[in-house]
Amino acid sequence: MNKQLELLIETQKLDSAMIQESDYLNSIPSRLSLIEKPFKDAQSIVLKENETYESIKKKKKDKERQLEDIGERIKKSKARSSEIKTNKEYQAYLKEHESLEKERLGIEDGILLLMEEMETTEADVRSAKKTVDEQSKNTEALKKGLEEEARIKEKSLAVLRSKRAELVIGIEPDLYSLYMSLIESMGGLAITRAVNGVCSGCNMNVPPQMFVEIKKNEDIIKCPQCKRILYHEEVIV
Ligand SMILES: [Zn+2]
Repeated sequence: MNKQLELLIETQKLDSAMIQESDYLNSIPSRLSLIEKPFKDAQSIVLKENETYESIKKKKKDKERQLEDIGERIKKSKARSSEIKTNKEYQAYLKEHESLEKERLGIEDGILLLMEEMETTEADVRSAKKTVDEQSKNTEALKKGLEEEARIKEKSLAVLRSKRAELVIGIEPDLYSLYMSLIESMGGLAITRAVNGVCSGCNMNVPPQMFVEIKKNEDIIKCPQCKRILYHEEVIV
């Protein structure tokens, strides 16, 4: 095989591997945000439950104030009862007293309901906090795993890079710049196999005579369709 062709094939193998590693490294930020999502979701549930709890607490305070108020009114009404002279006044007093007591009971019932709601919400907050803790641990473990993978990929990239640097020294400058421009324009694949007369880069047939030449692996031959450099390699089936 033509030595230049051989060097290009090797360079392409390294470049393809480097592209794969880089793609993985580039995908890390989006992987991270996916990993963090359940944790952040759990955190916002805690916030929401806390808000609910605070608002119920506020409602309860309001009701307690109302209760104090009605207590005062009942006291005053009772104090005035000593001044009752007529039966009519007494009837009016009873009516007022009855209505105030009814109101007081209503408020008390409301407070009890709110207390129940507070208990339920408190339990919800606790369980949401537990989920946050669990998710936090989970997220940390997943993040560590991802960071470890990233380190491995970085190392592998460095190894590939230095191998490539050694390799490309042997490639003729014109051929190397052709290769590089193809790498740029052809999505990272500059040199590829012709298999059974078909370019495996664009899947188009190459002319039969050209395929005969490609099979010799002696010259730099470009695919008439995609312009990638073609070579031949026996495929063991
Ligand atoms: Zn092609």
